[in-house]
Amino acid sequence: MNVFSIPMTTRFRGITVREGMLLRGDAGWGEFSPFLEYDAAVAAPWLRAAREAADVGWPAPLRSSVPVNVTVPAVDAERAAAIVRAGNGCRTAKVKVGEPGQSLADDQARLEAVRDALGPDGRIRIDVNGLWSVDEAVGRIPVLDRAAGGLEYVEQPVTDVEDLAVVRRRVAVPIAADESIRRAEDPYRVRDLEAADVAVLKVQPLGGVRACLRIAEDIGLPVVVSSALETSVGIAAGVALAAALPELPFACGLATVQLLTDDVVAHPLLPLDGRLPVVRPEVDAAALARTRATPEREQHWRDRLAGIGSRP
Ligand SMILES: [Mg+2]
Repeated sequence: MNVFSIPMTTRFRGITVREGMLLRGDAGWGEFSPFLEYDAAVAAPWLRAAREAADVGWPAPLRSSVPVNVTVPAVDAERAAAIVRAGNGCRTAKVKVGEPGQSLADDQARLEAVRDALGPDGRIRIDVNGLWSVDEAVGRIPVLDRAAGGLEYVEQPVTDVEDLAVVRRRVAVPIAADESIRRAEDPYRVRDLEAADVAVLKVQPLGGVRACLRIAEDIGLPVVVSSALETSVGIAAGVALAAALPELPFACGLATVQLLTDDVVAHPLLPLDGRLPVVRPEVDAAALARTRATPEREQHWRDRLAGIGSRP
């Protein structure tokens, strides 16, 4: 096993360094990188995903590449357009809106700039990360839909899954559930409440590629596969899921290794012409040495692993 510690290019999700463990098995390398605040119970499915990758491998792919989105943070309009133009040919942009301290006009200007940069046939989705109230969501979504020249969907406009269901009934733009889906039982609650039109699934928190394929089949909603800010080893599992889904109507949120300043492979999983290839990148000895965590952090991760293994 191998523990990595890689600084992020920008602070994301409140973290500046991404840490995790790589496990080697007969099928290859698997990534185990639950966020540091997660306890053993929450981290257990993350370990199942890593073990699946290392010991069993993944189901056969149905496609040889998967479309991915470019991500536009809550930056000004000029910077947003530049990010889209530098987006490795991505035809879908996910744009952050609703940032505290910014106005609706800021979001409108950002979306207009993204539409200009992307052209009329590109797709735009927005991500609110649950920051709006129901009334804010209902008032703002139509405004931003117009500013964007049409939205593909709105990701997590409000926090509670019950509120998500209310918003979905009051706006015309489709709703995607992201933060509402963190544990294996969550997608079923989203389905039962009819709270979303699209389910964002992540391989590690939901326990692996096969577990996600089962969920996708059970809930009967279109799926967008997203990352948990993994290295290319973990991203490859997301790509394997996207490649094995019977239907893939939306671009995936898997173009995130750019958010890390380094990687554990020689050839990182970066998009080309807006797509990621369906490959398992080789872990590279020099990259492992470069990104290796301190002995103290290695011990922390060994303890973490042992803590999950000894759960009843
Ligand atoms: Mg999201």
